Amino acid sequence: MSEKKWVYMFDEVDEAEKAVGGDWEGVRALLGGKGANLADMTRAKIPVPPGFTVTTEACLAFLAEGNQFPEGMWEQELEAIKKVESQTGKKFGDSQNPLLVSSRSGAKFSMPGMMDTVLNIGLNDITAEGMSKKTGNSRFVFDAYRRLVEMFGSVVLGIPDEAFEDPMAEYKAEKGVKSDTELDTEDWKAITEMFKKVVKEHKGIDFPQDPYEQLRLSTEAVFESWNGKRAVDYRNAAGISHELGTAVNIVTMVFGNMGWDSGTGVAFTRDPATGEKELYGDYLLNAQGEDVVAGIRNTEKIQNLEKEMPEVYQEFLDICDKLENHYREMQDVEFTIEEGKLWMLQTRTGKRTAKAVVKIAVDMADEGLISKDEAVLRVSPGEVDTLLHPQFDVKALEKAESEGRKFASGVNASPGAAVGQVYFDADKSEIMAKENGQDVIMVRPFTKPDDVHGMLAAKGILTSEGGATSHAAVVARQFGVPCVVGASEIRIDLEDKLMEVNGLIIKEGEWISVDGTTGDVYLGQMPTTSPSLEEQTDLLILLNWADEISASPGIRKVPQGWPNKGLQVWANADYPADARRARSYGAVGIGLCRTEHMFFEQERLPIVQRMILAESSEERVSALDELLPYQRSDFEGLFEAMDGYPVIIRLIDPPLHEFLPSEEELFEEVITKRVKGETEGLEEKEDLLSKVQAMHESNPMMGMRGVRLSIYMPEIVEMQVRAIFEAAAEQTKAGITVKPEIMIPLTGTVKELNWIQPRLERIGEEVMNEYGVNFDYKFGTMIEIPRAAVTAKEVAEVAEFFSFGTNDLTQMTFGYSRDDAERNFLVKYVEEGILPKNPFQTLDTEGVGRLMKMAVDDGRESRVDLEVGICGEHGGDPASIEFCHLIGNNYVSCSPFRVPIARLAAAHSALKYKGN
Ligand code: PEP
Ligand code: MG
Repeated sequence: MSEKKWVYMFDEVDEAEKAVGGDWEGVRALLGGKGANLADMTRAKIPVPPGFTVTTEACLAFLAEGNQFPEGMWEQELEAIKKVESQTGKKFGDSQNPLLVSSRSGAKFSMPGMMDTVLNIGLNDITAEGMSKKTGNSRFVFDAYRRLVEMFGSVVLGIPDEAFEDPMAEYKAEKGVKSDTELDTEDWKAITEMFKKVVKEHKGIDFPQDPYEQLRLSTEAVFESWNGKRAVDYRNAAGISHELGTAVNIVTMVFGNMGWDSGTGVAFTRDPATGEKELYGDYLLNAQGEDVVAGIRNTEKIQNLEKEMPEVYQEFLDICDKLENHYREMQDVEFTIEEGKLWMLQTRTGKRTAKAVVKIAVDMADEGLISKDEAVLRVSPGEVDTLLHPQFDVKALEKAESEGRKFASGVNASPGAAVGQVYFDADKSEIMAKENGQDVIMVRPFTKPDDVHGMLAAKGILTSEGGATSHAAVVARQFGVPCVVGASEIRIDLEDKLMEVNGLIIKEGEWISVDGTTGDVYLGQMPTTSPSLEEQTDLLILLNWADEISASPGIRKVPQGWPNKGLQVWANADYPADARRARSYGAVGIGLCRTEHMFFEQERLPIVQRMILAESSEERVSALDELLPYQRSDFEGLFEAMDGYPVIIRLIDPPLHEFLPSEEELFEEVITKRVKGETEGLEEKEDLLSKVQAMHESNPMMGMRGVRLSIYMPEIVEMQVRAIFEAAAEQTKAGITVKPEIMIPLTGTVKELNWIQPRLERIGEEVMNEYGVNFDYKFGTMIEIPRAAVTAKEVAEVAEFFSFGTNDLTQMTFGYSRDDAERNFLVKYVEEGILPKNPFQTLDTEGVGRLMKMAVDDGRESRVDLEVGICGEHGGDPASIEFCHLIGNNYVSCSPFRVPIARLAAAHSALKYKGN
C-alpha cells in the first residue's frame, strides 16, 4: 500500500484533483480555499511564490491523535521544503542565501483573520546576517526578524500580545519617535533581542534558532488554531461545519519592502461598491502587506501603478483578466512586487454590495462569461430586498453600534430604514406628518385598524407587542413602511407620552432610527440611502430574465393538467393604487384583496357601524345599499389597474366587533357620564355599549368571522358580490378585460360552501343579465382551517380555486395565537431549537406544509385544473416560495413591495428543481 499523501506542492493540483475524484469542491475541501486557489493559479502559469499545502486531512488526523502529526506527514513536509529550495535556488537555514517561508491557515470556507499565520520562518541569528549581506538592507532584515519572534511568540507559544507591544511602545517613547519608519537597523536589532527576552521570560525557553523547529511548531500552531475560540465562534456564527479542518500553506516569502522597485497591494477586479467593470484597489511601494491594510501610510490608487511600473501594471491587468475568465467571478487579489517581479499571493471571490452583486451578474452574462440562468442564481432574494428599501449608511450603522445607540430590538416585520420623531398615537402622527411636514415614527404597544391613517403618514412604525403577522406588521409590509414589532424591552407610557428602555427615557418628538430589515432601533438620526426600482436598470433586466425562466413550459415536471411552468407572482392589494404599484413591480394578478379594509375609511365607517347594529334586515339592507356604490368604485379601480389579469377579491372576513368602538372605551365613557351626571347622549352610549357587549366573544379569531359570518348575515356578502359583478360589468363595457375571482374565507367544511356559494353565483348571473355582458369568473375558497385541507377533495368539488391563508392555517395547525405567540414563547422556542424558525414568517413545511400538499393533491383529484395559490405572509418568503413550487402551486401572492423578491425566488426554485 502506498503511503498516504499529506502534502501537495502548488504544482500538484492535478494529483489533488485525482485524489478527490476530479471535483473542485473536493479539492477545496482537501487543500482549503487558499491552497486550492494558489495551486490553481500555479497551474494557470500565474506567478505564485513556490510552496505547498499540508492538507485538511492532516489537520483532522493531528487533532484526532491528540495533537500528533500523522505518520509520514513531517517527512513529506521536509521533502516539500527541498523541492521549494530547488524551485527558488535558496536554502532553508543557509547562511548565504536563506529561504524564508510563511505558514498560513486556509480552510475550505474563508474565515478571515480567525486562524493563525506566521511570517518570515527561517530567520535566525545566522540567516539574518547572511540576508543582510545579500540584500544590503539590514534594517529590513531585522524588522522582519523581530516580526518573526513576535508572531512566533504570540501565535505559537501563546504569549499575550501586550508582552511585545508594551516594551516596544516604551522603547519608542524613550527614543522619542512616533512611527516605526523612524527606527533604524540598530533599533530593530535591539528590539529583536528584547523580544527574545520576552519569549524566555514567559516560556522559559530560547526562541528556536533551528528553522525546522520553527516550521514544525508553526504547522502545529495553525492546526491547533482550528479549535481556537475565535475560529469556533466564527464557524458557529457563519454556519460552517466544525468537521472540516484547516490546511497549512507554506509559501516562499516575497518582500514588497526591498526598495522602491518593490511594493505590495490589494485589488478587486471590479468595483465592489458599484459593480463597475474597473479595477479597484490600493498599493504602496517599498512596503509590506500589513502597511496597506493598517493605513500607516497613505496608499496609492492601483491605476497609478501604470505610471510607476508600466510593465508590471500591464502584467497585473492581464492576470486579473485571466483570473476573472477562469473563475467567472469578480476576484479579490493580493500581490507583492519584489525587485520588479510581480507575485500573486491570493485570489478569492470578492465580497460586494447588493448593488454590485446585481450589476456584476448582469454584466458577466452580457459579456458571455456566465449564462442568464447563472446570473439569476447569483443574486439572492435578500439582496433584492436590500435594494428596494432605504438602507442605513453602513458606516453610520457601525458608528451608532460603537457608540451604544442601539436601544432595542424586535421582530424585523417590514424592511427598510426609517428616521423620524416619535409620536405615540395615530392622530398626532398624522397631524405632525401632514400638517407640520415632520418625519414621524409612530410608536404604539400594538396597532388596530383605526390606527392605519397614522401608520400611513409615518416613515416608520415601532411596537412593543405583536409578531410578524400582527396588524402592524401586515399593514406595514403592505404599504412598504419600515416596521419593527414586538420590541418587548420597551415600556410605553401613553399617558405621559414617553417610552422607557432600561432607564433610558425617550419623549414625544425625539428622534429615533428604525431598521425594519434587522429589527434594531437606534437613538438619534442616521443617514440613509434610498434607491427606487425604476432607476435600477440592472435589477430590472435581471428580474425579466427571472420571469423568462419561470415562464418556460416544462420547467416543472408535474402530473397531467397541473401547472408545468414555474410559479407566477401575484400581489396582495386592497386599493387601486396598490394594484398599480404591484403591476409596476411585475405582479401578474391580485391574490388577495381584503375588502374589509375598505370599510374603515372615514366616511364609510359610520355606515358600516349602522349596518352592523341594525335591528332589522331592512335597516341593514338600507345601510348596505349606501355602501354598495363605494365598494363598486373600489373594484372598478382594481379591475382597471389589473386589465387582463385575475383579481381575487375576498369577501368580508374579520369579526364584526372590529368595526365598532372598543367595549372598554365605551364603558369608560358611560361611567364618566353617569358620575358627572351628564345625561346628554348617555342613553345612546348605553345602548351602544349593550350591543357591543352582546357581540363580545372570548375568542373572536375562532368565532364569528369568515364564511360563518356570511351564513349568519348573508346580506353583507350579497352586497359585496353584487358590487364586484357590477364593477366587472361596467369595466367590461368600457373595454377592460376583467377576471374576477370571488374568495370565501375560513371554510371548514364543504357544506358551508354548499350553503353560500350558489346564492352568490345567482347574484353574479343576475348582474350579468342586467348588464347584458359576459365575462369569466370563478368562486373559490381560502384554505385556512386544517379541516378544509384534510377534506380538500370534497371542498374542490365546489370551489374552483384554493388560496392558502397560511397566517390562519399556521395559527390553527399549531394552536398558537398569531397575535400573541411571537411576543411570548415563540422567541424562546426558536432559541431553544424547538422550532427551526418563526413559523409565522417561514412556512413550517413538516406540519402546515404537509396539510398544504395534501390539499393540493386531493383537491386536484376532484378538479385537475384547480388553481392554487398562497396569500398568507409566507407568500413573500423565499423558503416558503420554494415549497409552494414543489407542491404545485400556480402562484404566490405577497405584498407589492415583495413582488420583485418573489419573482427572483420563484425563478430560483424553477432552476433548482428544473425538470424534477
Ligand atoms: C391568512 O390567514 O393567511 C390570510 C391571508 O388572511 P388574514 O391574514 O386576513 O386572516
Ligand atoms: Mg386568514
